[in-house]
Amino acid sequence: MLKDNLNYVMKKVCESCHKKSLNVDDITVIAVSKTKPIEMIEELYNNGCRDFGENKVQELLDKYEVLPKDIHWHMIGHLQTNKVKYIVDKVALIHSVDSLRLAETIEREAAKKDCIVNILIEVNMAKEESKFGVYPENLEKLLREIHTLSHIRVKGLMTVAPNVKNPEENREIFTKMKNLSVDIAEKNIDNITMSILSMGMSNDYAIAIEEGANVIRVGTSIFGARNYNIE
Ligand SMILES: *Cc1c(COP(=O)(O)O)cnc(C)c1O
Repeated sequence: MLKDNLNYVMKKVCESCHKKSLNVDDITVIAVSKTKPIEMIEELYNNGCRDFGENKVQELLDKYEVLPKDIHWHMIGHLQTNKVKYIVDKVALIHSVDSLRLAETIEREAAKKDCIVNILIEVNMAKEESKFGVYPENLEKLLREIHTLSHIRVKGLMTVAPNVKNPEENREIFTKMKNLSVDIAEKNIDNITMSILSMGMSNDYAIAIEEGANVIRVGTSIFGARNYNIE
């Protein structure tokens, strides 16, 4: 069943790529496994998935502990500074950095563990009050503060687009994100590349890819609906 879901998502990814003459190998699909059990992750692993996304530190650690070490773990949720130390040397990418304070904490903990941490800056493109992320007009300033931190590599941007009925409504947000990423790339700030654009979830990943996403974060469409009550 998970295999069928995964195949369906990959088929849609291929269609979006075809539409825009993109190479499907350039797209990374992160299977967002939050709230889902180890067995389901193993099933996807056995079908070739290596990128998984979690939004809680403890849950990520529990899964990291028991699952194969060649999995790339993505921290996609809001990260509290006091929990940074547990994950800096375990995650492939932190998608949700949106303040200098958080970046400085990552720098400090990474220095202690002598590792380099890849991060994305989360942008609140739609300026939703309920969401985390830096506003687009404050992005460059934040990047110019972060770029001197030697244990951090900024790899690009991430956004969580609004929860809309019709995914077409998010197309403009995705286009704006792509433009922002191109603008920043052109400034050639040391230590900062804009090679990753992480946007698009179950509802809108096809459109996100069409507008320039190369990392998509897909939970429900692969794992089925989440039930938060049984936790
Ligand atoms: C839960 C989550 C997703 C996946 O959402 P679905 O709609 O289930 O695909 C993607 N990104 C973030 C940041 C999330 O928290």
